[in-house]
Amino acid sequence: MDLIGIYLKEAIEEGVCPVCRILEKHENNVIGEILYEHVLDPEVDRSFKKSMGLCTYHAWKLKEIAYANPLYGALGVSMLYERVLSHYITSLKKGDAGEEECPLCLLSREKERNTIESIATRFDELFEVYKNSSSIFCKRHFEMLYNYLRERDLPKAEKLKEVQIKKLESIDEGLEKFISKFDYRSKEAPTSREAGSPILAIYALRGSLIGTNLQKMCREERRRLFRGGIFGD
Ligand SMILES: [Zn+2]
Ligand SMILES: [Zn+2]
Repeated sequence: MDLIGIYLKEAIEEGVCPVCRILEKHENNVIGEILYEHVLDPEVDRSFKKSMGLCTYHAWKLKEIAYANPLYGALGVSMLYERVLSHYITSLKKGDAGEEECPLCLLSREKERNTIESIATRFDELFEVYKNSSSIFCKRHFEMLYNYLRERDLPKAEKLKEVQIKKLESIDEGLEKFISKFDYRSKEAPTSREAGSPILAIYALRGSLIGTNLQKMCREERRRLFRGGIFGD
């Protein structure tokens, strides 16, 4: 297994959706880097202005990370957003306050595609790890991986789907048991796995609260992603 394979294996062993987990870390790292060393970077400045201060989600995420870390604090946010605000005022006066897509959304989607591709190309090494772990690909990332595999190797895609269904059924079973334990006739307390099943169910359906998961993939984008577009054939 190569270094990327080991990194992916570790993400799978951490539980929940490994792709979400990787993207979450990536998002936090990129924001940390901006705040730590790129507040004055002209390139960062340009992309902040072009997007009018990132998308709503990433703007608040940046604020949250900055304010939670005394190393960053409010100064970086003030410097970044003072320049964006001035740019907005000037644009508004000119009557052209349009905006382009958030650079962090673009970056996260690129990381997402690379991660899916990396898992797919190491499927044989990672499949058993996934099967035997408590991880569950969220709906979005399962679909991305499944579609990627289906285009190239149908039996692998079907193998993944089979395991995915088993994992989902096991969460559902946990939920049912958890609900039944609320019955006054029930004498048993819920196990920790059962108690965690509502969270797992939300996770399996919607993934982590990260930028990429807030964007709906339209039909066109799906086609572009999986029919030889960005991934290539
Ligand atoms: Zn996910
Ligand atoms: Zn964004």
